[in-house]
Amino acid sequence: RSGFISIIGRPNVGKSTFLNRVIGQKIAIMSDKPQTTRNKIQGVLTVNDAQMIFIDTPGIHKPKHKLGDFMMKVAQNTLKEVDLILFMVNAEEGFGRGEEFILEKFQTVNTPIFLVINKIDQIHPDELLPIIQSYKDKYAFKEIVPISALEGNNVERLLDQIKSFL
Ligand code: GDP
Ligand code: MG
Repeated sequence: RSGFISIIGRPNVGKSTFLNRVIGQKIAIMSDKPQTTRNKIQGVLTVNDAQMIFIDTPGIHKPKHKLGDFMMKVAQNTLKEVDLILFMVNAEEGFGRGEEFILEKFQTVNTPIFLVINKIDQIHPDELLPIIQSYKDKYAFKEIVPISALEGNNVERLLDQIKSFL
């Protein structure tokens, strides 16, 4: 099994930390699949029989000018072509305008989306359920997975869930 995965989320939610952890600890190989100029392959993770190809999707943010508008369309087309989207949010910050804006963009995309609630090491365990509830009614996420990309909590479980989805 093999599939393309894109991690989307506001700056500083922990996308790079997550990628560094999963690509860093396993043997990462560069894919020989052709790369387009716009979609950069960030890393390829091979776990047993599954290959996860993480690709960068720049431009998912509120456009400030026409070029931003164009980039947004490019990004949305990319989201239609990947097999799975990981929508990463910060457990400390809750649902905000940035998240709302990104979720709007998902409305035109049929790609399955996992909600990844990162930085759970920064909250009290009792706070998690209300956070999950606050996101549940916003979108039909295929999975909702709380993790700590920094400390590694639940990261293996997320990889398993991704794998079974490819
Ligand atoms: P990106 O902009 O989404 O790529 O976010 P980064 O991966 O650069 O992370 C932004 C900041 O959040 C860095 O200081 C990370 O060390 C920190 N960070 C990322 N993941 C976690 C986490 O799970 N827990 C904590 N406490 N900090 C995190
Ligand atoms: Mg980053």
